[in-house]
Amino acid sequence: MLDILTYLPAKRKATPGGWLSFNAVCCTHNGNTQDRRQRGGIKQTEQGWSYHCFNCAYTASFILGRNLSFKARRLLTWLGVPEAEIERTNLESMRHRSINGILQERRQTFDILAGITFPEFELPAFSEVCTPEHVEQWQYLRNRSAPLDYPFMVSGEENPYKGTSRSRPYVIVPFTYDNSVVGYTQRFLDDRTPRYINQTPPGYVFGTDLQHDSWTHVLVTEGIFDALTIGGLAVMHNTISDSQARLIRSLDRDVVVVPDQDAAGMELVDRAVELNWAVSMPEWPEGCKDVNDAVIKLGKLGTVLTIMQARETSKIKIEMRKKWLLKKF
Ligand SMILES: [Zn+2]
Repeated sequence: MLDILTYLPAKRKATPGGWLSFNAVCCTHNGNTQDRRQRGGIKQTEQGWSYHCFNCAYTASFILGRNLSFKARRLLTWLGVPEAEIERTNLESMRHRSINGILQERRQTFDILAGITFPEFELPAFSEVCTPEHVEQWQYLRNRSAPLDYPFMVSGEENPYKGTSRSRPYVIVPFTYDNSVVGYTQRFLDDRTPRYINQTPPGYVFGTDLQHDSWTHVLVTEGIFDALTIGGLAVMHNTISDSQARLIRSLDRDVVVVPDQDAAGMELVDRAVELNWAVSMPEWPEGCKDVNDAVIKLGKLGTVLTIMQARETSKIKIEMRKKWLLKKF
């Protein structure tokens, strides 16, 4: 692991609080004058380090198991750490990612909703968090525009079947709730069947713990990757069960249901109307059948904009749009 101390200016002093102070390296990059009073400080922690500048107020930190942040990368560059060394540090850090660490890191707004709980569920043995070193899986996630900070899992090095005909390449999307894993979907990346295995607790809605405090709307989609790519929810069917509806309502947001644009998806529309929720069936580019397709073509922001613009609450207008779409299928 990168020893940051070897890159600090030679002139430094230790403080009783465990900080090393030296002339800060950040200030001139932030429009301030060069620090000459040793106002930059770094403190090593059990799993990394923190940097603080009392001259220009720049801060950065690093914890093993996390991605190197933009601010930490800039600081390392200013300290003169070579680019290749920074990349190596990041890769090594990613190797230390663990699903428990990632779940603990999340500042979750919602823990247990409406008193609904789900039992904890074991991931398949030998699973480990997907990193750029799992080339095939990482590429698959990138191709689907998945948020790469989500704890996707893959078959680990320890798997005794790894590399044999009994092991197929896959990506696991853990289903999380209240900081624990309560199920998962396992997507195989080869052409064999089954293409995926789902372990879903009854009544579960994917993505409740991905919602942010400040969001006023919640977008309800069918598929896991639809939800992941726009920060929405996935009901994982073309209908919404009563207990799922209860969970979604408990978020206390303006609900917008975004169905797949195919015949089956139109059943989700009927259910949304029944629940008195808004529906959005945007006009997407040719060939886009669902949110994930749209995100790949239009990007996350572009897709969310089309969804919000096509948001409809009038039952008559929803029905008209549905009929118009049904003629296209
Ligand atoms: Zn500074």
